[in-house]
Amino acid sequence: MTTLRIGVFGIQGDIEEHVKAVNSAMEQEKLHGETMLVKTPEAVEIVDGVIIPGGESTVIGSLSSINGTLGRLEERIVKGLPVLGTCAGAILLSREAEDRVIGRTRQKLLGVLDATVKRNAFGRQRESFEEAVSIPKLGAEPFPAVFIRAPIISSVGEQVEVLSRVKEGIVAVQQRNILATSFHPELSRDLRFHKYFLSLVLSNK
Ligand code: GLN
Repeated sequence: MTTLRIGVFGIQGDIEEHVKAVNSAMEQEKLHGETMLVKTPEAVEIVDGVIIPGGESTVIGSLSSINGTLGRLEERIVKGLPVLGTCAGAILLSREAEDRVIGRTRQKLLGVLDATVKRNAFGRQRESFEEAVSIPKLGAEPFPAVFIRAPIISSVGEQVEVLSRVKEGIVAVQQRNILATSFHPELSRDLRFHKYFLSLVLSNK
């Protein structure tokens, strides 16, 4: 039987929520596997897929680069390791990040996703909200997307498939083994995004 080992980047952010969502998704899909927190280059080595949670992208990026975890993760993603980045996680995956106020940020990024993101792009009065968004790849039923000081994916390269778009811009993309969402699928009961991620991990085993 195939056993999946899913790592959740465990530096900062809504780590526990992803662990719970992955465990529930594995149970519902009758997949055999386990979750573990990833905080070291050694942990990056032994996982079959990684989730980078939402939180504060500058904190996650700078802390994880100190001991070489970020660098090792970048190498494995480039070689095909499936990864799901949500909100701050999506920012970290991107090639370039901009801020509404200061323009291009000089923060540490993985830079593996050919996309530019605009941080905190939804403005003050709409900083946090829930919206049913269409994600045709996950089925006809709209996805309950939770946005918390969310970024917008403002431009993407040719190899990037747009999975979902709202009126402000792109909010979910896939570039082969890389999935990124502006919103937090781990905060809704809908596990379709985590199940889709697990299907990528499974097909990469
Ligand atoms: N605004 C945060 C950042 O730029 C992301 C917010 C989140 O992950 N919910 O890192």
